[in-house]
Amino acid sequence: MAKAPALFVGHGSPFTALSQNRFTAAWTAIGRRIPRPEAVLCVSAHWETPRLTVTADERPPTVHDFYGFPKQFYELRYPAPGSPALAAEIAGRLAAWDATAEAGVWGMDHGCWTVLPWILGVADVPVMQLSLNIERPPAEHYAIGQALAGLREEGVMILGSGDIVHNLRFFERQDDAPTPPWAAAFDAAAVERIKARDHAALIDWPSLPDAALAVPRPEHYLPLLYILAAQGEDEEAEVFVEAVVSSVSMTSVAIGLDAP
Ligand code: ZN
Repeated sequence: MAKAPALFVGHGSPFTALSQNRFTAAWTAIGRRIPRPEAVLCVSAHWETPRLTVTADERPPTVHDFYGFPKQFYELRYPAPGSPALAAEIAGRLAAWDATAEAGVWGMDHGCWTVLPWILGVADVPVMQLSLNIERPPAEHYAIGQALAGLREEGVMILGSGDIVHNLRFFERQDDAPTPPWAAAFDAAAVERIKARDHAALIDWPSLPDAALAVPRPEHYLPLLYILAAQGEDEEAEVFVEAVVSSVSMTSVAIGLDAP
């Protein structure tokens, strides 16, 4: 069985994620370079729970967790199956955090289902989500990622979905909206450290330049730590999108891929 990659995708706004553009083209291109995974575990910015939870639905529902979008956005579905057995195994790996596998509590939110169709196409690979508890310190998110890393050997792709920079207070939707200097600076600092494998600096993200503006709340940043934690000693981190649109980063990272 091929070892599955770990990907972090900057998903941006649902408008971006659901359009043909250079970002979704890059997601499709990365999808063509990966072996088809046995399953996907998605850590999305959009599911927070106090207790670490893995979705264990046979048929995970598509969750439309956004507001004020056009009607057709609410009609989109990504009908991938789940895997209750694998969900239970994943929760078992996270017993130190008292994780639980539960059906009927969530499904796939837009961090997951707006991205996966571009990467995987046909919805025939089982998908599970793992919740975030942002009250935990960053190092603990990294440790949870380390506990999950071995799933890649079983062909389970780990997909972190968030945005390295995410500040909606300054967000302007038009494609040519300028990028504030602080947003560009934080993203560049993160990319430099991703390429240098400086995980300690990325765990200590509040010390990076302009962190307070770039990461006003950490839920979109933290999924990055899960995939960095899954990086093997001999693996490079490939930054396959490097861009900040207004005050939201689309920067995306692949681990475990052969060079293009
Ligand atoms: Zn988001």
